[in-house]
Amino acid sequence: MLPRRLCAISIDLDEIRHYFAIHGLSGSASAAANAVYDRALARFDDLAAGERVPLTYFVVGADVARPENVVALRRAAEHGHELANHTLDHFYDLSRRSQAEIVAQIEGANTAVAEATGVRPTGFRAPGYVVTDAVYAALEQTGMAYSSSVFPCPYYYAAKTALIGAKRLVGRVSSSIVSSPGVLAAPIVPYRVGQPYYRAGRGLLELPIQVTPRLRLPFIGTTLTSLGAVLARRLARALVGVELINLELHGIDLLDAADGLEALAPHQPDVRVALERKWETFVAVIAELRSAGYGFVRLDEAARELAAHLPAAA
Ligand SMILES: [Zn+2]
Repeated sequence: MLPRRLCAISIDLDEIRHYFAIHGLSGSASAAANAVYDRALARFDDLAAGERVPLTYFVVGADVARPENVVALRRAAEHGHELANHTLDHFYDLSRRSQAEIVAQIEGANTAVAEATGVRPTGFRAPGYVVTDAVYAALEQTGMAYSSSVFPCPYYYAAKTALIGAKRLVGRVSSSIVSSPGVLAAPIVPYRVGQPYYRAGRGLLELPIQVTPRLRLPFIGTTLTSLGAVLARRLARALVGVELINLELHGIDLLDAADGLEALAPHQPDVRVALERKWETFVAVIAELRSAGYGFVRLDEAARELAAHLPAAA
């Protein structure tokens, strides 16, 4: 057991083009192409400052090619937030690529972020939460300290499978793929991966994306913002007692249709939720968990504390 209850809030900085790819939409995101870096990141920094919580940002390495993005990431690091690795190019089919390519995607993001910001990531999140034993082997090889990629949620799994099928029916091709169904039996608390990775073993430390005990309801940004503050607080109460609450958000969780995302709104219900409602939901959830005794940390800090309690192979 950890000496204290921890909550870590992380934000995947998937830029708008990735949402167009998920929905199989052609055309560019034009006006809002950089809305995550130009608008959402500063809003998250403001939210974090107001609520006095540190954040972990999962950065797509290729995005540091844009100078404005580098300015935003450096500012985030100066504010005490963690910069972590979300691969170099955010290929949704990363797990199906060659071992050399998987290693290059991880190492490439570490190098890109380090050169641009001076911070070398130690944590990893896979695009679309899809991992395999080969991905963990690559993480060990590149010296990562932890992964936060497993999402053992049956509702998410079913919805994603349905979305890919539905796009196919209307002649669109989604870039998403699903994990092995074994992931649905994975531990819902931090564990060291075994073989296969969804069983506990003595390998890399995995901090699964949060689901509720027993029902395994998703406790992530889109779920919370669609529930609104009152119901999101109730869902947060279902988690009290869990050692580490690993709350995963996306940059788009502090954007709405008025940020130039009208083209996405018909395909993605959370884009239709107003920014104010999203903001007040996150503030409410943070307040609920703080009142239950949770301390807020970055994922790399949580990983350090947990690593000491979960022995690795000698
Ligand atoms: Zn992503």
